[in-house]
Amino acid sequence: MNCRVCGEKCEKEYTSVNLPECIWPTKKNFKSKCHVYSCLKCFHLQLQNFSKKKISEFYGDTQFNLSKSSVHKNRIRLIKKIYGLNYLKNKNILDVGGGINPILYGKQIFIADIKVQNNNKIIFKNNYFEIDIEKNSLPYKFECIFLIHSLEHFKYPLKALKNITKSLNPNGRLFIEVPNFDYYTIKKSYFGIYHQHLSMFTIEHLKNLLKQSGMHIDKLLIKNEIMFCSFKKQNIKKKVTYIDNKEIFVKYKKNYNVMRLKITKHIKNKKFNIYGGGGSMVLALASVLNNKKKINKIYDSDSRKWNKFFPGTKKKIFRNKKNITNINIYSLSSYHMKKNKNLNINDI
Ligand SMILES: [Zn+2]
Repeated sequence: MNCRVCGEKCEKEYTSVNLPECIWPTKKNFKSKCHVYSCLKCFHLQLQNFSKKKISEFYGDTQFNLSKSSVHKNRIRLIKKIYGLNYLKNKNILDVGGGINPILYGKQIFIADIKVQNNNKIIFKNNYFEIDIEKNSLPYKFECIFLIHSLEHFKYPLKALKNITKSLNPNGRLFIEVPNFDYYTIKKSYFGIYHQHLSMFTIEHLKNLLKQSGMHIDKLLIKNEIMFCSFKKQNIKKKVTYIDNKEIFVKYKKNYNVMRLKITKHIKNKKFNIYGGGGSMVLALASVLNNKKKINKIYDSDSRKWNKFFPGTKKKIFRNKKNITNINIYSLSSYHMKKNKNLNINDI
């Protein structure tokens, strides 16, 4: 396979178990393996080639990954803390990928997405663009551009970045947030690789990709399960830095096995309940393939999931009952419930 960033040769680093292609309840759901390739020249980590039609199927018929407005507020608070309270005032701001849940609202805020949700079309009036940023750029300039959990979803991330930076003022800043693959090599490894995320980034991978689009890192604002960074344009083209992808996957595979063993040991051969029908639980369960027949009931508090099938199984998701004490069935959970018989997947 050739690298979708620089066009050079890649080698395969990793193959996942069979995973549901869409991790949210959806009508048609196939299972397949993810193959991770690393580029021998720019070190970019990427999944195998999927057609754009196939990629759109990974998102199912309903979007379930709405980030809370409190998370957006925290990003804005951090920007103001670092760049000053008035930094975002009187600036033209573009949110690429903000068609569903934009980071900011206001007169000078613009959104660009492949599809903009109807209510946002009304709110943003003339300030929205329905555009495939991997193919086209916008004929406008912005002082600030946000790319929040979008970069990892692009098939051609460098093409997207080149088009985005065309719209950035010479002194403007690009704010990017992506999942931190470094974190998933240690914790929650079941959530590190799945079909929606076509690229995987550690901070070094992110810097290398941005270097190729003529940008350098300005500030690293958050680094935990995610990375939130600001980038600026640079005039001198810099070379990419070597990354030992082999070593990264040695660590990932080791911790993935530890995680699988923990789940298998916990649920043993007994019947178990699942609390939380979200994507992370779907992937955690997919990592222990033989235990699906032992699922008793699946619960979730999100009404949009009720009576729909838990991806990868023929089991329906039920309304979360408040009274979940006296659990005499082993359970997996994505909530914090201090029960002896509960294993919280966020902790492994
Ligand atoms: Zn490459």
